Amino acid sequence: EWANQVIKQSQIDKYLINGKDFINEKEISEKLKLCKNNDKNYIRNIIEKSKSIETLTPDEVASLLNVTDNDLWEEMYEAGAEIKRKVYDNRIVFFAPLYCSNLCVNGCKYCGFRTNNKEEKRRILNMDEIKKETEFVVDEGHKRMIVVYGEHPLSDIDYMCESIKAVYDVKKKSPNGNGYGNIRRVNVNAAPMSTEDLVKLKNVGIGTYQVFQETYNRNIYKELHPFGPKSDYRWRLYALHRAMDAGIDDLAIGALFGLYDWKFEVMGLIYHALDLEKQFGIGPHTISFPRLMPASGTSFFSDTKYLVNNDEFKKLVTVLRLAVPYTGLIITARESPEVRDEVINVGCTQIDASTRIGVGGYSENNGKQYKEKQQFMLGDTRSLDEMIKILAKKDTITSFCTAGYRCGRTGDKIMGLLKGCVEGKFCKLNAVLTFKEYLEDYASPETKIVGEKVIQKEIDEISNLPFFKEHGLYNKLMDYYNKISKGERDVYL
Ligand code: SF4
Repeated sequence: EWANQVIKQSQIDKYLINGKDFINEKEISEKLKLCKNNDKNYIRNIIEKSKSIETLTPDEVASLLNVTDNDLWEEMYEAGAEIKRKVYDNRIVFFAPLYCSNLCVNGCKYCGFRTNNKEEKRRILNMDEIKKETEFVVDEGHKRMIVVYGEHPLSDIDYMCESIKAVYDVKKKSPNGNGYGNIRRVNVNAAPMSTEDLVKLKNVGIGTYQVFQETYNRNIYKELHPFGPKSDYRWRLYALHRAMDAGIDDLAIGALFGLYDWKFEVMGLIYHALDLEKQFGIGPHTISFPRLMPASGTSFFSDTKYLVNNDEFKKLVTVLRLAVPYTGLIITARESPEVRDEVINVGCTQIDASTRIGVGGYSENNGKQYKEKQQFMLGDTRSLDEMIKILAKKDTITSFCTAGYRCGRTGDKIMGLLKGCVEGKFCKLNAVLTFKEYLEDYASPETKIVGEKVIQKEIDEISNLPFFKEHGLYNKLMDYYNKISKGERDVYL
């Protein structure tokens, strides 16, 4: 026990700068108190800095969070959308979550999975069940999945690796045409682990590793995580630093909004992103900002004084968009359709659809939600096909691209390409190819009609852009496109 503690401590302390953690509550609170400058020119200069795809400083972020002028907020919403277009164009990426187990040894006061919640029906999927769930997700047309595990000895690193392999093993004939479907990128949401276990996770071929700090405020963290391994704030705070050392360089940070003051949590996320940039030269691949939802066996949702309303939510997403312009932003189905549609516009890049979060929920629950079998209740249960059609009508192209990490465009390579707005060029081509696959294999007739129009528009645009002609990419695209029409799958640039 003592030896383990020493090893654990050494895996935290090595990331301190001048002996200090990167989160300093006093400093954050002071900045939020002092950086209140509603001079329009001052705020507009910060907005311009974001538009040139530069990460903002904590002072600048605090100033944006404190803006009280509605016209300036409108300018910030527009800038968010502009930055998103500049870095990610008109694309949106879809993924599906897969909850593998709801066994957990922790006692997080806001979560239905906590060990002392007797209402929760516990379960861990075996490999056959994981494959069955994956088949359901593949049949919807998904190519990216995030696997989610509670923290428990039964869902240890060996279980995780085995279950990720089980997901990758599934290959299924598509309902339309002659294609097949499979999951080509598995991202992981799992408890913080040691560098040695993270190496095992890397070797199994994961995409992104995601750990949310929940709250960056130490006192609140301590109160809400009273026991279990998760009660160690600092072990969690440096989980992604260890992942970098283990060679996983696509990392996802997040905070659970509703546990503490939303402005403080945005600042915490920014300090986290900046520390990763400073120590490894690579910021987070994505940032998530889930809002607290009601869960089984707890009245925490009705009791907390920190719930974030829709207006504040839009503001916090916008500030994150401006603060870390190169990073993907994820808005999940826990939000209502109205909120998602609104917030996508200010710069989100990834969403889920056809989502079920009950353990076994895809293949067994007939689309229904059961509070006692899931971590929280979903707000948006629209299908992938429906979402794609809605977005296509707004000229948004759905991308199922998973080429980046398979071509080694991860970590600092993808950061550089995103900051220089170059990665977007590859993504534009791969979006066309993967969307074409979806339309051939899974789309309803109506979605196919709207989707084909979007693809044609994209191809016309690509044919007129010198970059694609000069590098022979337009011809290559059309070659691959024709291959897909003839039944070939998973071709990418
Ligand atoms: Fe377990 Fe995560 Fe829920 Fe906490 S939030 S009880 S760690 S599943």
